[in-house]
Amino acid sequence: MAAREPKKHEMPTQKPEVRAHNFEEVALGYTYEIAKAESERCLNCKNKPCVSGCPVNVDIPEFIAHIRNDDPEGAYEVISRSSSLPAVCGRVCPQEHQCEHECTLAVKLNLEPVGIGRLERFAADYHRENNTAKPVLPEKNGHRVAVVGAGPSGLTCAGDLAHLGYDVTIFEALHTAGGVLVYGIPEFRLPKSIVAAEIETLKALGVEIQTDVIIGKTLTVDELFEQGYEAVYIGTGAGLPNFMKIPGESLCGVYSANEFLTRSNLMKAYLDDSQTPIMKGGRVAVSGGGNVAMDAARTALRLGAEKVFIVYRRSMEELPARKEEVEHAMEEGIEFMFLCAPIEILGYKNENDPRDPKNGFVRGMKCIKMELGEPDERGRRRPHEIPGSEFELDVDSVIIAIGTSPNPLIKNTTEGLDVNSHGCIIADDNGITSRTNVFAGGDAVTGAATVISAMGAGKKAAAAIHKALSEK
Ligand SMILES: Cc1cc2nc3c(=O)[nH]c(=O)nc-3n(C[C@H](O)[C@H](O)[C@H](O)COP(=O)(O)OP(=O)(O)OC[C@H]3O[C@@H](n4cnc5c(N)ncnc54)[C@H](O)[C@@H]3O)c2cc1C
Repeated sequence: MAAREPKKHEMPTQKPEVRAHNFEEVALGYTYEIAKAESERCLNCKNKPCVSGCPVNVDIPEFIAHIRNDDPEGAYEVISRSSSLPAVCGRVCPQEHQCEHECTLAVKLNLEPVGIGRLERFAADYHRENNTAKPVLPEKNGHRVAVVGAGPSGLTCAGDLAHLGYDVTIFEALHTAGGVLVYGIPEFRLPKSIVAAEIETLKALGVEIQTDVIIGKTLTVDELFEQGYEAVYIGTGAGLPNFMKIPGESLCGVYSANEFLTRSNLMKAYLDDSQTPIMKGGRVAVSGGGNVAMDAARTALRLGAEKVFIVYRRSMEELPARKEEVEHAMEEGIEFMFLCAPIEILGYKNENDPRDPKNGFVRGMKCIKMELGEPDERGRRRPHEIPGSEFELDVDSVIIAIGTSPNPLIKNTTEGLDVNSHGCIIADDNGITSRTNVFAGGDAVTGAATVISAMGAGKKAAAAIHKALSEK
């Protein structure tokens, strides 16, 4: 066996001091030559452990072999058999915990794994930039399915059903399809033109997308059945933000990360001529340690903040965000305050002048230092407050990124649809819920998770819907 390069080929990126001031994509993607060189690191193992590490089971060694053989279109074709959003997954999937985690180079040879995500991104970008062929339209089978929510889960379910000949309509509450991919994940990590291009591919397959339709308000699930849809897939995500339940959360200048990111991404507050109100500049504290917290902090920085702090109650080791995102945030100058929890958001109040425009705005955040104790039920060490260690952080705005839950609207308007104590729809591994022909998956079932797990759930549910309607 020929010796392999020990490390993945570096991904060209914008320099930290430049990218901290713009919203353009940070990672620039492999060139043809780098992709080919990286593809040569793959051992093409017989048992393909990387494939079982992928929630949608992309045939990874096969697509990499196409890149090695100067056939990136062939690589795209292999990936798109299993994934309807390869350019998205290549950019945002936590490959380090999935396919790359299983790579033999890392597991057996103690080298860096093959850069599978980077190669997937290369193949998808190559296809988008070079392909002109029109998709072959599947023959219709006469059945109609409604999909609620145009996030990665709903889009995947819709795409798979369309391939099987179903007439699929997606009902989306917002004015744009894409879910978190368009309202949450910022442009500098996932350009919206790329999401739009992947959605156009679905539309070209015949999937209809009706935006500005809130199921549970505009129409109910039962009304969808009355309109002739034979099955309904609920992929409505977990978009309801959790709050810290501490004093001061209703002050001006306090945002949930979802609101802050929606204003910037979907409502384009970052454009110079935007009319969307958002706090720009000043000192910003972000509470949380996941991908959402990193995105909010880096967005605040790009909007002109003079200083951004991530306040996280555990240590660096427990940070749930992707390693790459944490490294990028640190390189850009975000300050991490570990073992530290907010206990109160402090407001400005001018006792002498009730009309002072600063009244009611954030002037700081009171925090307390923490120490780690025994592991909790998820195995992470539980943080405890250190009595008497309170201190004030001087900030002008606070962004809360401590998790989200599913919106209860559909549950409240769909009789017989069971949910658990967290408000997540109860569905089995194939998306089957307590209501006949109502299927569900993605964050609406699991709570906030990942793009690829939401896509995997959409795929399984599409197969289950096909089985249910074929047997009818
Ligand atoms: C800021 C941020 C960054 C993230 N970064 C990453 C990352 O780097 N990697 C990763 O893998 N994951 C990441 N995630 C998580 C990932 O985006 C989600 O797990 C994934 O999008 C879930 O997909 P979904 O289709 O289940 O739901 P969503 O993407 O939330 O889509 C649900 C859709 O349903 C619509 N909807 C809701 N209610 C209704 C209704 N009643 N009627 C009609 N439509 C409705 C919503 O408007 C939305 O468009 C991130 C999440 C956030 C918020």
